[in-house]
Amino acid sequence: MTARKGRQPVELERARRSVKARIMDASSLFLALDYDGTLVPIVARPEMARPTEATIAILESLSQTPGIKLAIVSGRSLEVLRRFLPIPNLILSGLHGLEIWPQVNRVASRTDVHAVRVDLDRLLLALQEKVGGGNSPRIEDKRHALAFHFRGEKPTVAARMRKVVHEAFEEIKEGARIKLVPGKQVLEARAENVDKGESTRSMWEQLAPSSLPIVLGDDVTDEDLFGAFSDVGITVRVGKAARKSQARYFLKSPADVITWLGEIQAIWREAGKAGN
Ligand SMILES: [Mg+2]
Repeated sequence: MTARKGRQPVELERARRSVKARIMDASSLFLALDYDGTLVPIVARPEMARPTEATIAILESLSQTPGIKLAIVSGRSLEVLRRFLPIPNLILSGLHGLEIWPQVNRVASRTDVHAVRVDLDRLLLALQEKVGGGNSPRIEDKRHALAFHFRGEKPTVAARMRKVVHEAFEEIKEGARIKLVPGKQVLEARAENVDKGESTRSMWEQLAPSSLPIVLGDDVTDEDLFGAFSDVGITVRVGKAARKSQARYFLKSPADVITWLGEIQAIWREAGKAGN
């Protein structure tokens, strides 16, 4: 596990006025939102993490608001994001930036996804050999990434599984083009040159470089996102206050995120920038 850098974020509620002033002053907004744990609560089975109607409604409305660009940046595959969020005008970034729709980013094009797949298959094979007939973590195959899930396992079992995945990775990592990244109850194997911070920053620079970026996330990989926008944007971590983060602010839950998105839209209207 990597140690968390940064400091204690401030509850967004306590900075409401200064944050509102920054939004009012902006010429346009670029919202980049993580999905799991940010827009929807984390659930035991990832396939069940569907958005509520209220969530769909606010995303749809924001994505149609003049002056606002809305991107979902997630470790999920593009295919799953499209299924969960069938919203026109939404920019979708899957697998932490490896899959982006519409094509606005060069990260994907400089990644040899076939080579990544070959390395993922080598990892799967090494893991199978190590596990033998024993317990294996639940494996989610996202084509150009793999997620090893430990949610629901006893801590001792999960720890053993984690160790085996790390060992399998050690065996194949020489010359491999993938890295192993920890998340909440999950280890992910994915393209080594892709990170959410860099890919989202490059998306912002290409799509809306003069806009105010507002980025939200809840997990270890989102620290890259906060780091990439700490100098220019509003960075918000979703979750308990106690954790150090590179984000400046925090909101406690996905429900609070949905409420705040509504407020952003209200502020934008109040500023007379929403075109109505
Ligand atoms: Mg998340």
